[in-house]
Amino acid sequence: MKDEMRQQGYSKEDEYFFKKDQELIEKMRLEADAQHKAMEDKNKELGHWMKCPKCGTGLEEEKYARLVLLDRCPGCGGIYLDKGELEILLKADPDVFRGLGK
Ligand SMILES: [Zn+2]
Repeated sequence: MKDEMRQQGYSKEDEYFFKKDQELIEKMRLEADAQHKAMEDKNKELGHWMKCPKCGTGLEEEKYARLVLLDRCPGCGGIYLDKGELEILLKADPDVFRGLGK
């Protein structure tokens, strides 16, 4: 019984931190979205917008971990992140890239 209560206490604590993180992550995501939009407005008329820096193929956006839009190159397989997106993914889950190598 005592252990049960202690366990409950821990999970309540975890929940609190998780919620705090969720709010922070959401804030970071909004900042990254705004950054992406500003970059797009500034650069989309230029030839290099959303082109792979390595091979020049058009990048494809891909939702990853329900948190960010990765830019993946269908030509060479390169994966690119906007400013702030790496931080969001690492904040959400330090093991977040485990699923990427498919
Ligand atoms: Zn490429």
